[in-house]
Amino acid sequence: MTWPGIIERYRAHLPVTRKTPVVTLLEGNTPLLHSPALSERAGRGIAVYLKCEGLNPTGSFKDRGMTLAISKAVEAGSVAVLCASTGNTSASASAYAARAGLRSIVLIPSGAIALGKLSQALIHNASVAAVDANFDACLAIARSMAQQHRVTLVNSVNPHRIEGQKTCAFEICDVLGRAPDLHLTPVGNAGNITAQWKGYTEYFRLRKISRLPVMLGFQAQGAAPLVLGRIIKQPHTVATAIRIGNPASWQGAVTAAAQSHGGIRAVTDREILHAYRLLAREDGVFAEPASAASVAGLLKLAGQGFFKRVKRPAGRPLTIVCILTGHGLKDPERAVKSVRAPALLAPSISAICKAVGLR
Ligand SMILES: *Cc1c(COP(=O)(O)O)cnc(C)c1O
Repeated sequence: MTWPGIIERYRAHLPVTRKTPVVTLLEGNTPLLHSPALSERAGRGIAVYLKCEGLNPTGSFKDRGMTLAISKAVEAGSVAVLCASTGNTSASASAYAARAGLRSIVLIPSGAIALGKLSQALIHNASVAAVDANFDACLAIARSMAQQHRVTLVNSVNPHRIEGQKTCAFEICDVLGRAPDLHLTPVGNAGNITAQWKGYTEYFRLRKISRLPVMLGFQAQGAAPLVLGRIIKQPHTVATAIRIGNPASWQGAVTAAAQSHGGIRAVTDREILHAYRLLAREDGVFAEPASAASVAGLLKLAGQGFFKRVKRPAGRPLTIVCILTGHGLKDPERAVKSVRAPALLAPSISAICKAVGLR
């Protein structure tokens, strides 16, 4: 069977009827990739998997929520959608809106979104407003605009986004045959951790899984309101997708962490960029910096001996899933900046062999 997209695959679990027009780019069904390198770094008897959400149609998990948000907007007779975005929401909204024949309007914090994401919104013909303000201010403006005009807000404050994004948890359980023991995920506006926890708890209630995972969310140190317990006015981090100081789904994240006996923690930009390079070098996986926050968290916890203190399941490895939220190609400038740039060489075989270490 070819994959039909998340709405058809998980129709019974989503707020759709036969009348809902399904707007899909065949999102979902992303790889759950075992990582031998990270498993070894995490410790003996641990199996680490990477949920590669960058392989969604527009390159991030946002597509799971957007297919539903846009389908419901069309069903409701909307002609235009609006979002504030650190980049990936605008990329996804503009692509799904194009597919549905809707107008899209996106508010982006000027100078603070990765080039790949901006290029997506532009080529999908969104009306792009580059605003001289950070994401939190852009979202506040978008919320007011949605109240005053006939446009549908498709940020994760739109409950259909959360509904669609919970399918990430369904897929993980369907592939593993159970929930992972620990679920590690980057946290920005906190819609995703809220959605993932909703997915697990729904599967648990339906008895599709018999145990729930421990949820561990990771924010960047300079943008860690949930860790500090207060709004950050000027959040800063290289991981632009999670540069958010006042998460809209604050309560959802706190609930997921508390109910699952997990937590929300901070990782530094240094740790994020280390994990970012490690993923690319040792696993062949190119994820964007924000995505690497989950792996940075994994490495940090391993270094603190955290996994030694976790209760081990009998007869199988401790299973950890790290969510990689978006694709590395979204932000090629960051990749090039993170490594040594190649020197310009004369077209001479000997000079080139010397430079690349062949002799
Ligand atoms: C949106 C996004 C996040 C943060 O997700 P939230 O739901 O806002 O917590 C993390 N990584 C990437 C790549 C994203 O696009």
